[in-house]
Amino acid sequence: MSRYWSPFVHSLSPYVPGEQPKTDNLVKLNTNENPFGPSPKALEAIRAAADDKLRLYPEPSSEQLRETIARYYGLTTEQVFIGNGSDEVLAHIFLGLLKHDRPLLFPDISYSFYPVYCNLYGIDFQRVPLDNQFAIRVDDYLQPSSGIIFPNPNAPTGRLLPLDDIERLLRMNDGVVIVVDEAYIDFGGESAARLIPKYPNLLVTQTLSKSRSLAGLRVGFALGQPALIEALDRVKNSFNSYPVDRLAQVGAIAAIEDEAYFEQTRQAVIANRDWLTGALKKLSFEVLPSQANFVFCRHPAHEGRVLAEALRARGVIVRHFDKPRIEQFLRISIGTEAECRQLIDALTEILG
Ligand SMILES: *Cc1c(COP(=O)(O)O)cnc(C)c1O
Repeated sequence: MSRYWSPFVHSLSPYVPGEQPKTDNLVKLNTNENPFGPSPKALEAIRAAADDKLRLYPEPSSEQLRETIARYYGLTTEQVFIGNGSDEVLAHIFLGLLKHDRPLLFPDISYSFYPVYCNLYGIDFQRVPLDNQFAIRVDDYLQPSSGIIFPNPNAPTGRLLPLDDIERLLRMNDGVVIVVDEAYIDFGGESAARLIPKYPNLLVTQTLSKSRSLAGLRVGFALGQPALIEALDRVKNSFNSYPVDRLAQVGAIAAIEDEAYFEQTRQAVIANRDWLTGALKKLSFEVLPSQANFVFCRHPAHEGRVLAEALRARGVIVRHFDKPRIEQFLRISIGTEAECRQLIDALTEILG
């Protein structure tokens, strides 16, 4: 605290990211990074772009990257917005599209950055409880709001809401924007991007941090009809005209174009998730059905916090949220086969 702060800063409650440990000898299953490296073609493109041109500003709207993403999803360039990680894209969405007179709706168990943005931008919000199976109940969102946002698959539950339900939500709430945060969609769901031509109130966000293994590059994007994208452009150009640097733009293009590598690593994560789910169930864990690159699970007889601490003592870090309804749970990112096995070995030892 300091008297130099703008008064409003005292009221902020910032997001707390998962730990990024300083040592390399931990099995890191706490922040949903991809256990496989980025596409070698992306790394090559980044190296090739590290030249004298870095003295020049990047293309401000990431034109070529937008073209690449538009082509990938069968959309037009005017339907794509790029930002410095999808967190930045989300921030612009909250300010540009979700700040109206009524509360914004999102699930009670969801991405914990959402209430942080509401706090930052002065947006009223209401948490809508998931059902007792931790699933989104679409009918609960039939109420006046300034918009709706949720991750699909949801985080940290991993549960997927089917596209039919998303369409129902879009039709029920055609006066407000519905944001589907698809950070994990490539690990088991079908993107809502194909609904964009049909629904002017749909905005889909994605990131290259998870399925493209480029969390360190910071590239995310939003897909929607041009009127929604224009609002994001207006906010972006009132904040930072050059959010995505030259290296990130070329690296992202190469990563999206390397479909073979994407498919191979995505399938490996899915296979490891299936193995890990089975192994956890054998240890008596309840594991929610996950379509993401993590599982959310609880043991009937052991506290989540205690298990997380015991795992850490054995060199494995997972995420525990000290929050109502989910204190018992652990969120475990899908690692390599060896990492998944180390986790199971450590848990077997802990559970005796
Ligand atoms: C990881 C994550 C993001 C943020 O991704 P970045 O592009 O790395 O900023 C957004 N939403 C959800 C639900 C996430 O889990």
